[in-house]
Amino acid sequence: MNNDQDNRNQNDKSGKDGRGPLRTGLPLLVIAIVVVLLFNFVYNSIASAQLKKKTYTEFLQMVDRGELAEVQFEPDRVQFLTKEEAEKPGSEQTVFYTGLISNTDNTQLVSTLKNQNVSVSQEPQEDNSIIGFILSNLLILGLTFFLLTLLMRKMSSSMGGGLGGIGQSKAKVYMERRTGVTFADVAGQDEAKESLEEIIDFLHNPQKYAAIGAKLPKGALLVGSPGTGKTLLAKAVAGEANVPFFSISGSDFVEMFVGVGASRVRDLFQQAAKVAPCIIFIDEIDAVGRTRDSKFGGNDEREQTLNQLLAEIDGFDSSKGVVCLAATNRPEVLDKALLRAGRFDRRIIVDRPNLQGRLDTLKVHTKKIRLAEDVDLRKIAQATAGAVGADLANLVNEAALRAVRKGRQAVNQEDLLVSFETVIAGTEKKNTVLTDIEKRMISYHEVGHALVAALEKHSMPVSKITIVPHTSGALGYTMQMPEEEKYLSTKDELLTELKTLVGGRAAEEVVFGVQTTGASNDIQRATDLARKMVTQYGMSAHFGPMSLATVQSEYLDGQSYMDCSQDTAAQVDREVQALLTKVLNESKNLLQEHRGLLDEVALYLLTKETITGDELMRYVNADKSALPASVLEEPEETEAPQE
Ligand code: ADP
Ligand code: ZN
Repeated sequence: MNNDQDNRNQNDKSGKDGRGPLRTGLPLLVIAIVVVLLFNFVYNSIASAQLKKKTYTEFLQMVDRGELAEVQFEPDRVQFLTKEEAEKPGSEQTVFYTGLISNTDNTQLVSTLKNQNVSVSQEPQEDNSIIGFILSNLLILGLTFFLLTLLMRKMSSSMGGGLGGIGQSKAKVYMERRTGVTFADVAGQDEAKESLEEIIDFLHNPQKYAAIGAKLPKGALLVGSPGTGKTLLAKAVAGEANVPFFSISGSDFVEMFVGVGASRVRDLFQQAAKVAPCIIFIDEIDAVGRTRDSKFGGNDEREQTLNQLLAEIDGFDSSKGVVCLAATNRPEVLDKALLRAGRFDRRIIVDRPNLQGRLDTLKVHTKKIRLAEDVDLRKIAQATAGAVGADLANLVNEAALRAVRKGRQAVNQEDLLVSFETVIAGTEKKNTVLTDIEKRMISYHEVGHALVAALEKHSMPVSKITIVPHTSGALGYTMQMPEEEKYLSTKDELLTELKTLVGGRAAEEVVFGVQTTGASNDIQRATDLARKMVTQYGMSAHFGPMSLATVQSEYLDGQSYMDCSQDTAAQVDREVQALLTKVLNESKNLLQEHRGLLDEVALYLLTKETITGDELMRYVNADKSALPASVLEEPEETEAPQE
């Protein structure tokens, strides 16, 4: 990505958006009022600082001594200036005042003052002064407001945001003139690329389509799990078509203030229209495009934003070459209006990569990385079933970091394998101190998993067993690796998986006669699987092929909710429980029958801490009691050593 070409979009629309001034008006008014109040406060305190109180007697004495230069009668008091003060410059003069004694006749006083040549005046009516006060304050208020508005305009046009960005689009819209990403950077996803070809061709040459009168869809929806490369694909489309790329996340639209999101949508499309042909990419469109029924809770702002989005999509002239791509991992919550013909009616599935896809992704990401001779990317691709592109990119980077830490010049296979384990189990925890008995238990527990897997016929081969604690909290683990990509699982395979999962607990019970907390994760996973077998896969004897649960978010965690009566749900629980108890007993029987082998391998693991699948199989094959699993189905009384 050429970040240097990234270009934060400015918006110069301070006045165009009818809401702007109104919205910023209120805070400005508040500021202006505060300014006026402050002004008055300061003025008054300055004014009163220059006024000094005298008693009436003092005033009379000063009159008698002929010290006064000016006297001003006010309704409730007299203000007077001494000759001494009158000589000072205006700002330094101190004015004195004193209260008036009511009901006294001032004619005598006035005539005395007149004789002394003191200038006498009378303050005009009080009412006038209040009106003057209000008028002058209003004037200041208006002036401040006007100045502030002017200032805000200036700031918003230079910074791209108003007062805290309210009412205007934050500079969150990103435009890349050239994304620099092409389809060669996107591994796998051939179906998705094929569907996008047409859009690229259209962006290259909109006239060709316009000439025939063909209308291209205005938008396409990229659907897939997080990290599968939806953003990457959208960028690649822009890169291939050589057009600018606008990107914004759906959650950027939704703000606290109603109307803000809508104005952002308007903004985005306006900017895009200016540089057409181009691509607008809206990530996480489910944040705005959620269905408007009340099931998910109504939200005025979101609805308004969505309506604006719909209006813009309908409004823009696609013959100019604006294409709107959107990404989501929750297509099931999107509003129907968004998906109807002429809008996002094309749905492009961006799947989790298969073996080949993972291999290609690894190749893309290791292109710029120096690899050692022994690196076998296919093995890594095999081990990472279910991983998405982002995981693989991360894995490769972790491996490169590890190689640097180890002071090597190139990344080797071990780096890749270890970083894969880091991704799934966390790094090794060096300072966990386990007691000997705990270590023995963990060793038996892990070998329990591994042996059940090794002895059963429908299981994936074990590739590694370790009892080194990891930061993920696992005290040890058994890793199984599929030989090839699998899309289907049979009931037998699932049952074997269940048995393997509870194999750890089975070993604890068989050997030590105890149950430990170390099995909690196994039990969780076994229960999930058993529940799925009963409610989704139609594999229970009691219910048969009946669906009892619906998957809610296919592209996220695959969570499901039960859609059956409460009675049935209780029955389901009993079924699941029976299934789990059954597989646990089978596992225990199996381990009891191979108790000698279990002891041998567990002790070996205890001394070595980590053993490979091959080492395990050497033990298993050497063991006479390890008969083919089919024989175990008609159990004969073998000399299974007790204890
Ligand atoms: P999404 O938008 O689907 O969540 P992204 O497009 O953001 O996923 O992918 C994140 C990163 O994962 C990309 O930057 C890229 O490095 C890597 N990636 C994902 N899918 C692929 C792929 N098919 N080929 C190469 N890299 C990929
Ligand atoms: Zn376990």
